[in-house]
Parts: sequence; C-alpha cells; structure tokens
Amino acid sequence: MSVSSLLTPDALAALTREMQGWRHHLHAHPETAFEEVKTAAFVVERLQAFGVDEIHQGIGKTGVVGIIRGQQDGPWLGLRADMDALDLHEDNDFAHRSQTPGKMHACGHDGHTAMLLGAASFLARHRTFAGTVALIFQPAEENEGGGRAMVEDGLFERFPIASVYGLHNWPGLDSGHFAIRPGPMMASYDIFEITLNGKGAHAAMPHLGRDVLVASSELVLALQTIAARTVSPLDSAVVSVTQIHGGDTWNVLPQISVIRGTVRTFDLAVQDLVEQRLRDIAQGIAVLHGITATVRYERRYPPTINAAEQSRIAAQAATAVVGAERVDLDPRPSMGAEDFAFLQQACPGAYIWLGAGPGQSGCMLHNPGYDFNDDILGVGARYWVQLVQTILPLPSTGA
Ligand SMILES: [Zn+2]
Ligand SMILES: [Zn+2]
Repeated sequence: MSVSSLLTPDALAALTREMQGWRHHLHAHPETAFEEVKTAAFVVERLQAFGVDEIHQGIGKTGVVGIIRGQQDGPWLGLRADMDALDLHEDNDFAHRSQTPGKMHACGHDGHTAMLLGAASFLARHRTFAGTVALIFQPAEENEGGGRAMVEDGLFERFPIASVYGLHNWPGLDSGHFAIRPGPMMASYDIFEITLNGKGAHAAMPHLGRDVLVASSELVLALQTIAARTVSPLDSAVVSVTQIHGGDTWNVLPQISVIRGTVRTFDLAVQDLVEQRLRDIAQGIAVLHGITATVRYERRYPPTINAAEQSRIAAQAATAVVGAERVDLDPRPSMGAEDFAFLQQACPGAYIWLGAGPGQSGCMLHNPGYDFNDDILGVGARYWVQLVQTILPLPSTGA
C-alpha cells in the first residue's frame, strides 16, 4: 500500500478534527517573531506524542525540526511550515480569537503549523515510504527572516535535505484549489530610508535656508519614475514611499527630513538597477537643492523563485490530491514576499498556494478580521502526504 492511499476518508476526517483543535489552540495563543516559545513547545509535544524519530529544537532560535524515517532508506525531503503571528489587534469575536492583545494569527501560520502536524501524525504511523522526512517548523516568517536564521544555523548541513517544499494558504483563490508556477512566485522585499539634511530657517525667510521639504516632495515624485521609466515595461518593480517625516511646527523650515519605503522585484538584475537608480535620484535631488542625502538600502528577502523540477513535482502531487482542473499552473506571481526564499537559495525547492476561498468575511491576509479557513486543513495535510508518496515511493509500489 502506498502511504497516500492509507489516508482514507475516515482517517482524514479523524485527522481533520484533531488539526482543527490544534489550529484553534494556536490561533488563540499567537506569538510573534523569535518569541514562538509556547508554539514551539506545543509542536514538540505533538511530535513526541506521534513518536517521530528525532526532534531538534532551537534551530534559528525558536525553530523546530522533526525527523521521520521511512521503512526503507532514500533521499531526505524537507516540508516547511511557518509558526509566527503578527503584531495586529484581532477584530473577531469567535471562541478561538486571540487571547493576547495586539497579536494575531492574521496570515494563517496557525493553519500551516496544524497541517504539517497533521501530516506528521499520519506519516509517523504509516512509514511506507523510502527516505527521510524533515518537518521544518520555522519562526519569524513575518519581517524578521526566520527562514534565513534556520539556514544560517545549519539547517541544510545538519540534515542532508535534497529538496524542500513550502505552502501558503491563499484567500481569493478558490477553496481547496492549488496554484504554482516555476520561476518567480513572490517578490523580493527591500526597504530604504533616505535622510535629507538641509539648513533650517524661518519659514518667512526661506532664502536663508535649504528647504528639505520641497526637496522631499520632488524626491517622492522622482522615485516613481524608477518603475515607470527605468525598469523595462516587460519586467516588474514596485517602489512605494510609505513614510515622510519632517518638521514640527507652522513657521519653521526643518533641517532634516526622512523618507522611508519598500521596493519589490522578481529579479536580481532589476533589484540592482532599482537600488542604484534610487541612490542616484536621491543624490541628484540633493545636489539640485544644495543639501545632502544619506541613503540606507536594506535587502530583506530575496524573491521566491520555484525550481523547475520541484515545481513540476509539487504540481503533480497537488493534481493527485484535487485533480488537474483545480490546479492553476500559471498563476500571476504576487508582489508580496516570503522568506521561504532563503530555504530555496540553499536547496532546490517549490512553494505552492492553497486556495482559502473568499475567507472569513472576505478578508485577505493581514486583515484584523481574517481567520484561517478550516475547510482546507484536510487538503493541505493530504498534499504533504502525497508529496512524500510522489518523491519517496517504496520501490515495490512504483513511482
Ligand atoms: Zn504574512
Ligand atoms: Zn504568511
């Protein structure tokens, strides 16, 4: 019997009830970047109860890796879920709402953790596969790069993982459908801060100063020409100014103004181009106004680029679970970012979206009214099990 065929509708129904319980517990107790102490302990407790072979804690601070060996030897396969919540006040009033004011699972990582636990529970009991599964429970996906922390902490040196797979629920994509494409799936995430330093003056005598606010206004508009006039129309880039800080009162021209924002691209060459152009424009505007510009540009997350072979395998597994008509093989990439990109830089991998439907009251990710759609827990767990079947089949069962 192949491992995926053992996951019968009855077994799946029982598992789904368990996953829902775990998911609601995690939702009620959200923890944010690198503070996922209770969440990690919850994961460890479950993995111990399932009887996985090894549990490694503290990888990338609060990350956890569980190991399940199949009946026969074979390659190592990495399955990754993120565990962290967001700094956001939850608007919902259902029983499992956040019990920690100002923190909320608004990206569905509670569901991701529950689905990987569900698959772990099943795989620990049914080891009809040839190889080793590494269950990667990752901290700090939001903003802080927990994926990078795990990679830098030796994730791929400590465990000889040959390929790695990630999954994210996707409101707006039909419930229980999948979407994946080779190449760019999600964008890079860069931040910038430009400090303009001029000469403060009486607002009634601007000729005696060097006005940073007029320069800031020009700069914000000029930055918009990067995507419009510098990057090829056939490539993609977003340059968004999100903060302007300068001045305190009515009649003073401030000395300093600070402009901050974010840049998104899919391609390293475009990323290089945007950064260079942003620096040039800041210096050019500064020269024009006789002031100085200091630019801090920080590359946070690289783009999420699916490897061709792993993307094909992920699509094959998704198709086996829900049928070809429910797998979109050419979705438009998202300008959002995802730190699974760090795992993909270290190891061939593929990242798939699992449709969450319209979502709780039509809410998108990061909305205070969002809740993970429990209807897709079963599909997600089946996908993980099918991926193990597809990549690590027992020789006797065929591929
Ligand atoms: Zn998020
Ligand atoms: Zn997320």
